[in-house]
Amino acid sequence: MAFISENIEEFHDIWVFCEQRDGKLQNTDFELISEGRKLADERGAKLVGLLLGSDVKGIASELGGYGADKVIVCDDPNLKVYTTDAYAKVVCDVVMDKKPEVLLIGATTIGRDLAPRCAARLHTGLTADCTHLDIDMNKYLDFLRESSTMEIDPAKFKMEDTNLKMTRPAFGGHLMATIICPRFRPCMSTVRPGVMKKADFVQAKADACEIEMYPVTLAEEDLKTKVLEVVKATRKMVDLVGADVVVAVGNGIKSDVKKGLELAEQLAEAFGGGVIGGSRVAIDEGWLSDDHQVGQTGKTVHPKIYVALGISGAIQHKAGMQDSEVIIAINNNEAAPIFEVASYGIVGNLFDVVPKLIEAMNAQKAAK
Ligand SMILES: Cc1cc2nc3c(=O)[nH]c(=O)nc-3n(C[C@H](O)[C@H](O)[C@H](O)COP(=O)(O)OP(=O)(O)OC[C@H]3O[C@@H](n4cnc5c(N)ncnc54)[C@H](O)[C@@H]3O)c2cc1C
Repeated sequence: MAFISENIEEFHDIWVFCEQRDGKLQNTDFELISEGRKLADERGAKLVGLLLGSDVKGIASELGGYGADKVIVCDDPNLKVYTTDAYAKVVCDVVMDKKPEVLLIGATTIGRDLAPRCAARLHTGLTADCTHLDIDMNKYLDFLRESSTMEIDPAKFKMEDTNLKMTRPAFGGHLMATIICPRFRPCMSTVRPGVMKKADFVQAKADACEIEMYPVTLAEEDLKTKVLEVVKATRKMVDLVGADVVVAVGNGIKSDVKKGLELAEQLAEAFGGGVIGGSRVAIDEGWLSDDHQVGQTGKTVHPKIYVALGISGAIQHKAGMQDSEVIIAINNNEAAPIFEVASYGIVGNLFDVVPKLIEAMNAQKAAK
């Protein structure tokens, strides 16, 4: 197949790889389609979802409701369950044939496996774990003005640059780096789940979405692995990303971990049911399982209320929670950096403050 990733003028449109599990679209798909819509509008391009699976045509149009103009469906029994071989082959076949300018993939376990494999085969660049994307130069400069201390002089930038500008934390979160892929296409990026905001679903857009069935060619020799059985973890994973209230604990509970976790649970309960999260220390110490970790190497959350109990607010932690609507921090050190992003800060020993808070909340509820 004639595919040369350097002929960049041959590449058009913004694509999003849409992950399904057990025939269900994932939240990350809707977030990426919503973000892809903005990029497609900036570029004056079409937004296309790429959906692989078995018997999945029926779920494709929902992606239109979040902004996709079109969904390309690759339907084959061998795509029912994710395997690296089959998915990488089919994604690369479609990309080589149709030549998208941008390909976004969720930085989920599947996306982190699939994206580098495809980028290597397509001979293009991949920026992993992005937290911000732009095409339009003016929008990118606005982003720099808002989020950095740089002096922005538009004369120093190539304002007509239409490369995808892919921003991600670098050097342990101490820097933000914007990476471009100017010589090859598609520009590929994995994007952290929970970072991009999901647009409102519009039924009329879903109804208008074009669905294209793309013929899959998978030969026996393409499939080097076979899934014989899927054994799901019996442990229920905590749904941090979708939670309205997150009560997170950090190293500040170390003097009495059991009590600290109990208080966090009770506080979450007082909020009408919140989810427990933790800083990396809480995970590394084994107080909570790794699906509870908030931050750069954990999950990015933006709940309505985020409570940080005994968390200092290291940059890597803040990267995962600073966009929460309301942040309540309880810390015995008034200089703790968490207070820089907190909407409400309480300086004190969490073992004294939290019981009083719970008592006050419960009293107020009872009074109502
Ligand atoms: C590459 C890289 C990636 C990382 N990724 C992550 C990540 O995803 N998530 C993450 O969280 N961290 C991450 N980290 C680690 C991060 O740098 C910090 O070390 C970590 O967040 C600190 O956790 P902490 O705030 O719980 O602990 P500490 O920094 O030890 O802070 C504990 C806080 O509790 C306060 N305290 C102590 N006792 C009490 C008390 N009784 N009552 C009230 N307050 C009290 C202290 O004053 C202090 O502010 C990463 C680091 C690196 C280098």
